[in-house]
Amino acid sequence: MTIGVVGGGQLGRMLALAGYPLGLDFLFLDRSPSAPAGQVAPLVCAEFTDAARLTELASRCDVVTFDWENVPVHALRTIAESCPVRPSLTALATAQDRASEKRLFERLRIPTTRWRSVESPRELALAVRRIGLPGVLKTRRLGYDGKGQALVRTHEEAVAAWARLGGAAPLLYEEHVAFDFEVSIIGARSRRGETAVYPLCRNAHAQGILRLTRAPCGPARLQLLAARYLLSALGHFGYVGVLTIEFFVRAGRLIANEIAPRVHNSGHWTIEGAVTSQFENHLRAITGLPLGSTRPRGHCAMINLIGKLPPRAQVLAHPGVHLHDYGKEPRPGRKLGHCTLVAATSRARDARVRRLLIELAPDIRIP
Ligand code: AMP
Repeated sequence: MTIGVVGGGQLGRMLALAGYPLGLDFLFLDRSPSAPAGQVAPLVCAEFTDAARLTELASRCDVVTFDWENVPVHALRTIAESCPVRPSLTALATAQDRASEKRLFERLRIPTTRWRSVESPRELALAVRRIGLPGVLKTRRLGYDGKGQALVRTHEEAVAAWARLGGAAPLLYEEHVAFDFEVSIIGARSRRGETAVYPLCRNAHAQGILRLTRAPCGPARLQLLAARYLLSALGHFGYVGVLTIEFFVRAGRLIANEIAPRVHNSGHWTIEGAVTSQFENHLRAITGLPLGSTRPRGHCAMINLIGKLPPRAQVLAHPGVHLHDYGKEPRPGRKLGHCTLVAATSRARDARVRRLLIELAPDIRIP
C-alpha cells in the first residue's frame, strides 16, 4: 500500500519512518527538492497547486494525507474524487483560518480567547475597545510558529501592528492570555470511529516556537477535560487520523488556542515514549487499521533543536537520550531536529531535562 503525502517536511519524514515497519510505501510531493522526507522516500517536486502532479500522486497512491496544514484545500479537492484524502478537507479548511477555528471552539463549547475579525484600522480600534489591552493581532491564515502575529499593549502598538500585518490579509484580534503554562492534547480517530488519546503534553515556547514538551503532565482533571474537547472535535468532523488541540492554562482553566489536523511537534516524544507513536497511529487510522495503545512508557521530554544542531556525540553522551536529525540545512529559527528522553518518574525526568537544557537550550527554564 502506498501513502501519498503532500508536504515533505520532518513530519512527513517521521511518518515514513514509522510506516516502513508496517510494510507501507510512501510518495511525497513538496516544492523543495531538498525536503527532509525526500531523503527517505521518493519525492515529486512540484508546487502544491500543480494539478497535473497532484493527479499523478493520487494515481500512484492508495490514500493521500498531508504533513502541513497550509496545503491549499482547493488543490486537494481536485484529487479527492479519485483517491481518498484523510483527514477530511473540512477539518483542514477549518484549521487554515483562525476565525473558523474560533467558531468551531464556540460551537463545541470549548472555551477560547475573546476575539474579533478585523478588516480595517477602524475595526481594529473597535476590537481593542471591546476586548481590551493587551491583545494579539494575528493573520487569520498562514501563521505558524508565532509568525504573522503582533503583541499589542497600547493604542500606538495597535496602529503599528496594523501597518505591519494589515492590508494584505484578513486579521483577527484576540485577548492576550497571561497563561500559567501551555498544553496540547493529541489523539487519533480511526475509520471505524475508534479513538485513542495520548497523555496531556506540557509545552514551553520561545518567540512563538515550541522548544520543550514534557508528558504526561497532570493534573488528571485537565487531562480529562482536554480529552473530552478533543473527542468532541474528532466526532464533529467524523475525523480520520491524528488531531491536536493546543491550549493555554490559566488559573486551572483550559483556553483553546488552535487545532492542527495532523501529527504535531508536541507529540514527537511518542516515538520513544509511548507504546504506539503518533506517526504510526496516524498511518493506522488513515489506512483503516486498528489504532495502537497511546499509553506512555514512562515520563518523557522532547527538546527541539533549533537553528544549529549540536554535535551528535554531545547529545548522545547523555545516557538514554535519543537524537532525531531531520537532515535540514541550518538556518536561524529553523527546526533541525529534536531529542527525547524517557525517565521512570517525573522528578527524574525534570532533573535530567534541566541538565540537557543548559547545553541545548539555555534560554528555556522549567520550574
Ligand atoms: P500560535 O501560532 O497561535 O500557536 O502562537 C504561538 C505561540 O504564541 C503560542 O503557543 C503562545 O505561546 C503565543 N501566543 C499566541 N497567541 C497568544 C495569546 N492570545 N495570548 C498569549 N500568548 C499567545
